[in-house]
Amino acid sequence: MNPSKRGFGRAVVMGGSIAGLLSARVLSEHFEKVVILERERLPDGPEQRKAVPQGRHIHAMLEAGLKVLEELFPGLLEELEAGGADRIDMGRDAAWFHFGAWKPRFVSGYETILCSRPYLEWKVRGRIVALPNVELRQGYAVQGLLTEGPGGRVTGVKVEGPDGEETLAADLVVDATGRGSRAPQWLEQLGYGRPEEEQVGIELAYTSRFYERPAHSRNDWKSLALYARAPDSWRSGFLANVEGGRWIVSLSGYFGDHPPTDEAGFLEFTRGLPTPHIHEALRGAKPLTQPVMHKIPTSRWLHFERMPRFPDGFVLLGDSVCALNPVYGQGMTVISLGARRLGECLAAQARSTPGNLQGLSRRFQKGLARSIGLSWMLATTMDLIYPRTRGKRPPGLKLLQWSIGNLVDLTSLDEASCERFYRVLHLRGGLEVLLQPKLALALAAYSLKSLFVPLAQRVNLDRMPRAPGIRTPAGGERMDTAA
Ligand SMILES: Cc1cc2nc3c(=O)[nH]c(=O)nc-3n(C[C@H](O)[C@H](O)[C@H](O)COP(=O)(O)OP(=O)(O)OC[C@H]3O[C@@H](n4cnc5c(N)ncnc54)[C@H](O)[C@@H]3O)c2cc1C
Repeated sequence: MNPSKRGFGRAVVMGGSIAGLLSARVLSEHFEKVVILERERLPDGPEQRKAVPQGRHIHAMLEAGLKVLEELFPGLLEELEAGGADRIDMGRDAAWFHFGAWKPRFVSGYETILCSRPYLEWKVRGRIVALPNVELRQGYAVQGLLTEGPGGRVTGVKVEGPDGEETLAADLVVDATGRGSRAPQWLEQLGYGRPEEEQVGIELAYTSRFYERPAHSRNDWKSLALYARAPDSWRSGFLANVEGGRWIVSLSGYFGDHPPTDEAGFLEFTRGLPTPHIHEALRGAKPLTQPVMHKIPTSRWLHFERMPRFPDGFVLLGDSVCALNPVYGQGMTVISLGARRLGECLAAQARSTPGNLQGLSRRFQKGLARSIGLSWMLATTMDLIYPRTRGKRPPGLKLLQWSIGNLVDLTSLDEASCERFYRVLHLRGGLEVLLQPKLALALAAYSLKSLFVPLAQRVNLDRMPRAPGIRTPAGGERMDTAA
């Protein structure tokens, strides 16, 4: 876009992680100047960051998120691949034991990219700092919001930088400071009150480590996910190819059954996973790092969109609004969709009231809540199956859990149902996707069967399905060896 056509003046983004970077990218199309304030000094390469400790753990990107990345950064996925990431088809290349049954292996058309979180963030950051109207200031910790007066619009931020405290004026301030955001306190101090907080207590922890990927593996998968069947078990395990010829292995356990960080304990934990495949893959594999743990006590959603009063000139995006249980792999995708929505809101605002941001904040937060809603519902409905999960249980929850459980089982039996399910799971469509008559009939029939036939006779519990053959460009059929 021609800079002179940008409709607004200066935007300030607090936080230079994934939500901050994606926000800056969409803001760069609408603001003359975008300043990102990041409190940490950032590495020059794909290294772990102290302020983003979750970066040491497996990070999947769902297909809807991948699409947004492609839109915002043309050629990024090829760049990631060129540096060693694997772009995979979820049906063909991922072996998935889900809720106690194997998913069929087929070419699904749903893609993801396998790479480490620091590598992804570093590549995205490279694209952002190359934008002529974006400035990334490192070592700047935001201390508070500036307003026009009590209850007035937000006009900038107070920030502690290398030269002491200063103020920075802005037409729009974006909070992308993650789960530790102080926005609730700041809004309260400014007289707006606090947002309603929804929490679902899971006492989850991830423990992860990197391994050298064995050179001559005969595995026909590039990622392996073993999910517990609630409520009987709560341990899950994930293994995926990442750049640098490595595997990342993340183990997780709910309710204090946390994967240990010592060598023997880590391996021993894999014996308690729903299938032995990760345990077998790791036997003899060479570890490259020590296991590290990250605790996630709750999924949390702050409902800024429900606040009776909310200031203009301020929006929030990312974990500062909603931090989801990571086992469902939705966080970065929900952030990507939120960033896209911010761009759409700004474009609509520029058309309807050029140069004026009044009303944008509320419209955006309401729209963002709609983007978050499906992911929150899917994650918390499944987590609330465990009697030990803390959280509000709405009426009709048991029926919903029973229906989703049956749907998940059904998707292990046939590709068509699985394809529809992937569409919802990868946030490419809403729940209406599941209302297609053929699927609804199959689900009704399966649900009836579930009342009479034991689980082991209904779904594939035992044998990992083989990957389908892949058509080569010449048309011949071959088996891909993935690792
Ligand atoms: C163990 C684990 C595994 C996960 N796995 C997945 C997965 O598989 N797929 C997925 O999509 N998501 C996953 N997630 C979720 C994902 O990591 C988050 O949704 C995402 O990182 C949130 O990004 P963010 O930019 O909102 O916040 P963060 O990444 O937390 O970044 C916040 C940034 O703000 C900066 N900051 C904080 N305060 C200030 C301040 N006052 N001033 C200036 N800067 C500040 C910080 O330094 C940091 O850079 C996982 C999370 C965890 C914990």
